[in-house]
Amino acid sequence: MPDFSIGVDLGGTNLRIAAVSREGQLLEKVTLGTKVALGRDHVITEMCDAIQRLSSKYKETGKFLGAGVGIPGIVDLKTGMLRKSANLPGFEDYPVRAEIERRLGARVVLENDANAAALGEQWLGAARGVPNMAVVTLGTGIGGGIVLDGKIWHGMNGMAGEFGHVTVEPEGVPCGCGNHGCAERYASASAIMRMAREAIASGEAPSLAHAASADAEFGAKSIYNLAIQGDEHARRIFRTFGRYLGILLAGLINVLNLDMFVIGGGVSSAWDAYAPNMFEELRERSLVYAATAPDDPLGNDSLGQEEGASAQTESRSERKTIITLALLGSDAGLYGAARISVLGV
Ligand SMILES: [Zn+2]
Repeated sequence: MPDFSIGVDLGGTNLRIAAVSREGQLLEKVTLGTKVALGRDHVITEMCDAIQRLSSKYKETGKFLGAGVGIPGIVDLKTGMLRKSANLPGFEDYPVRAEIERRLGARVVLENDANAAALGEQWLGAARGVPNMAVVTLGTGIGGGIVLDGKIWHGMNGMAGEFGHVTVEPEGVPCGCGNHGCAERYASASAIMRMAREAIASGEAPSLAHAASADAEFGAKSIYNLAIQGDEHARRIFRTFGRYLGILLAGLINVLNLDMFVIGGGVSSAWDAYAPNMFEELRERSLVYAATAPDDPLGNDSLGQEEGASAQTESRSERKTIITLALLGSDAGLYGAARISVLGV
């Protein structure tokens, strides 16, 4: 039976733990709620109990290689402490790694969750076999991670890959980070909602106003549904989204010239609504992309993961810049965390 490691995705809502073989086979996955309200120690106890249950079960047949924990926020790699986390109150300036190691009696690697997801996609997902790549995660905000030579690029102190706070509009919408015009103010789920609210307030988007009042769950998904049904106001929002995502990617491509950019996160699946404008912008703004673009970046037939994979295969010999959808969904971070514990930081 296989040697294995444990990957943990400790989010503000879900706590997920998986045993993964050295080769990347999922042995078992456990999903628990993160009971943040019960306090930090409760969350850590639940996590350590689950890690111990899984590891003692698979230790009977294989060697336990270690555990990796993906966590939202800025992780200090040296000290194994969380410097800043909006989703996990009470975890800041607390020796998270040391505490988990003490309880488990095993080596633990702590990593930012977006970096873990990038490594997961590089190991087993859309960028399998592609050594140099980045993941751009489109959710409530924008997350990111860069993998070079199969290892996470941390920058000086673990803060690399903050794609969401790259300026795409100099005098743009204020951002929580203190800047104006950050990418995540234009190409995320919250950006879609902001644009919808503004369109409704202007009085010029009656179809959106109607949908918002009729649909209790009105959100980015509703606006996407309207867009694919041909609603012009909804389509315009996604065109703007695609345009700004293209501006962000054009900068990243010019600077990094990576083989692949993987687009993940909840909003990424609205691909057919934003990708045409994204690619248009890329060709216009990045000389590196224009020189390395595949003939048909959107694929010949239906959109989605299949054509991303074939474009990827085709690109191997031709060295094209591939932009494609993520494949592992929310499991990317789990696999990445398991991998980190084997690779080390
Ligand atoms: Zn910002």
